[in-house]
Amino acid sequence: MKNLYERSMKVMPQAAGRATKLEIEKGKGAYLYDFEGNQYLDFASGVAVCNVGHNHERVIEAAKAQIDKLIHGGHNVVYYEPYVELAEKLVDLTGKDTMVYFSNSGAEANDGAIKLAKYATERPAILAFKGSFHGRTIGAMSITSSNAKYRKHYEAVLPSVYFAEYPNCFDCPFKQRKESCHMECSKQFKDIFDKLIDPHSIAGIIIEPIQGEGGYVTPPKAFLKDLRKICDDHGICLIFDEVQTGFGRTGKMFAYEHFEVKPDIFTCAKAMASGFPLSAVIAKKEIMEKWSAGAHGGTFGGNPVACAAALATISILEEGAVANSEAMGQYFREKLEALKNKYDVISDIRGIGLMIGMEFRKSDGSPNPDRVKHIINHAIEHRLILLDCGTYKNILRFIAPTTVTTAEIDMCIKILEEALSKEENQSSF
Ligand code: PLP
Repeated sequence: MKNLYERSMKVMPQAAGRATKLEIEKGKGAYLYDFEGNQYLDFASGVAVCNVGHNHERVIEAAKAQIDKLIHGGHNVVYYEPYVELAEKLVDLTGKDTMVYFSNSGAEANDGAIKLAKYATERPAILAFKGSFHGRTIGAMSITSSNAKYRKHYEAVLPSVYFAEYPNCFDCPFKQRKESCHMECSKQFKDIFDKLIDPHSIAGIIIEPIQGEGGYVTPPKAFLKDLRKICDDHGICLIFDEVQTGFGRTGKMFAYEHFEVKPDIFTCAKAMASGFPLSAVIAKKEIMEKWSAGAHGGTFGGNPVACAAALATISILEEGAVANSEAMGQYFREKLEALKNKYDVISDIRGIGLMIGMEFRKSDGSPNPDRVKHIINHAIEHRLILLDCGTYKNILRFIAPTTVTTAEIDMCIKILEEALSKEENQSSF
């Protein structure tokens, strides 16, 4: 009995949406397989979750071995090895001056980060950015603004949340170009602090170091450095949401490493345990130590099997997948740039490592979501899975696994070019 799509339509709400109607039996490496054995090249990676590919042998091995020993102990009841070992590993990876709290999802980690910033500073407000996506819980949704639909009918949301403009050098919210830019994005905070909220009332400024759902936007390094200084000057916690950018996606273990800016608090989830639900709030020790007993918690956070899978994932990343992400990211970018030079409809290619976005605009400069939709449909027909992003859905995002090969990238480029040339021909009719 299959018919998964039809059966799910009868028993599941449409709330979560679906990017495709594919019915999948199994996955391996960069591929998913349907029940007929057809192979799909998966450049969605379960939305940046399967960073080391689907069903990596070492992840399976580690999880199976842990299942034989202990499936759940309750981190608020007992201590168990993979939980502590993973926390130690993350502390090692993040400069040895941090502590770690585990939960289950990105949204839950972001809720935790907001709570921690408020608790540690005893301040009420949070400053977030337009275009951001932080998750679906009431807390995470309150700091999300990549699309108004996420908040529709849920107002009133968390109070004392303010939004600043996210720097976007391709489509500057301050209408500047490279030649005229005076870092208006950094200067906006004076106005916000003068007119909207006193900086000493702000617990945390939360930002994705590279905006994901909002359009794969990379901010200038100088902006994040300025943000670091603003937070230092006013005793505000700088919070990075690395839920999508973490664990090798950008060619480094964490994206903050590209910007030479260390956040006070950061969150990760998605790729952390290769598909097992696991997330973390990682914060400077002196901040974490202010979080007193009972101030936060949860039943499932730091599940032993998920922690064992995360330890295996991290070792695969450290042993070469992060480096491959950087190298393959460069290779992929060059191929995509060549397509941009050939097809006017592609207005921008951007990203770091294997977090790459391709923006589509019409000749009048307006967003072109139809082209993106057409390409995604063409890709699915040719057994390649791609996703869109951006408020106007006019950005294609390429989320290949960090273990991807040049042959797999070439396969994607071939299908992409077929779709682009087909569209060019169609539009000339
Ligand atoms: N933060 C970012 C940057 C994300 O991309 C996402 C999910 O796409 C989330 C948070 C929410 O994570 P989750 O869906 O695990 O709650």
